[in-house]
Amino acid sequence: MLACKSCHALSLEESCPACGGEMSKEWQGFLEILDPENSALAQEMGIRTPGKFALRVR
Ligand SMILES: [Zn+2]
Repeated sequence: MLACKSCHALSLEESCPACGGEMSKEWQGFLEILDPENSALAQEMGIRTPGKFALRVR
């Protein structure tokens, strides 16, 4: 699994399906956002779409 360096989305794609950003193998932590509008963490990370995200991406 790869994580996007800009929006932290997790994917197997070479470029991010959400924002087209660069993907990285160096990531830590896992977060599933089901309801971004009611998640303080999602808002803090700037996540607006439900999905799976990495907490930290290098
Ligand atoms: Zn992205």
